[in-house]
Amino acid sequence: MQAFELFKNKIATPAKIVITTHYKPDADALGSSLGLANYLLKKGHEVSVITPSDYPSFLHWMKGNDAVINFEDKSVQQEAIKKIQEAEIIFCLDFSCLSRLQAMQDYVKDSKAYKVNIDHHQDPKDFCDFRFWSTDAAATCELLYELIVKVGDKDLLDSDIAECLYSGIMTDTGGFRHPNTTKNVHLITAELIELGADNSKISKLIYDTNSVNRLKFIGFAISRRLVINEDLKIAYFAISKKDLRKYSSQTGDTEGLVNYALSIGGIKIAALFTEREDGIKISFRSTEEVAVNKFAQEYFNGGGHKNASGGKSDLTLSETTEKFEKLIKENYNTLFKQLELIHEKN
Ligand code: 5GP
Ligand code: MN
Repeated sequence: MQAFELFKNKIATPAKIVITTHYKPDADALGSSLGLANYLLKKGHEVSVITPSDYPSFLHWMKGNDAVINFEDKSVQQEAIKKIQEAEIIFCLDFSCLSRLQAMQDYVKDSKAYKVNIDHHQDPKDFCDFRFWSTDAAATCELLYELIVKVGDKDLLDSDIAECLYSGIMTDTGGFRHPNTTKNVHLITAELIELGADNSKISKLIYDTNSVNRLKFIGFAISRRLVINEDLKIAYFAISKKDLRKYSSQTGDTEGLVNYALSIGGIKIAALFTEREDGIKISFRSTEEVAVNKFAQEYFNGGGHKNASGGKSDLTLSETTEKFEKLIKENYNTLFKQLELIHEKN
């Protein structure tokens, strides 16, 4: 039987299903997880969404949020492990390698469940039975919409599901601004609005919901923690644990910060280094011509998309930023070669 037909059969009869996504879920990760959960519940499945960590409070409005299990919450971890072990189907959304599940990864790996991966990241690893994957998709939510339509269940989509999916497409296209904002994105978005997604409400909930602490933190980061190196075409923020504590930082408060660094004229690569309990978390962004994902993969144990990637470092914050500057110098020609060629042509 074809992989797709087998998948369709698997979800045709009620089953115990676990849906999971990457550590520190963003709107695409959580929107696709809850969109899928709401759809599968309508099909009569027993569904649990288990996230490897918490996520920003500006996503808490999505339908099904209250039932999400946070694996890092010790009071529910045993229940989460039991659900993973007993699951007949596990959906892995918006990531391409199991390491992005952090402490949850071994439980998912060891599970005998039929595993499905829906994703749009580069270089998917072999950990699933059925993969619905394309790097041409702007968001996992875009792929999920297409998958549900392909299964023949478009009539099961409703306004709650549409709002979950809309959120992921909106944020992964940077509010319909990035080059991945294709005709297909607009066509699907139009369908979601027709299904009842309130686009203006969602953008307010996600983008225009700030605490005073967060606004002060952004002001502080831009004025005190931004390093600009015009010669290297880079700008980056280095945020310490102490900085985060000072502004009572919540999950999601650093979201979008790296884009301020990329918006500076002449800057081609921007980074955000955040000191967390388990090491330095890194966000990379680049302008359209520059690919930053290979750089993240090769030197910072990460990966992602061409212009938006992430990684980690076990060094100290200052050692990490030093390493970053050094590597940019060493790789300057490779990173910016394409750019120079474009300039030469013009
Ligand atoms: P962000 O900077 O918003 O956390 O992540 C940007 C992009 O890079 C996202 O597509 C995200 O999935 C990917 N990404 C972030 N951190 C990591 C990581 O540690 N490993 C890999 N492979 N991808 C990452
Ligand atoms: Mn995504």
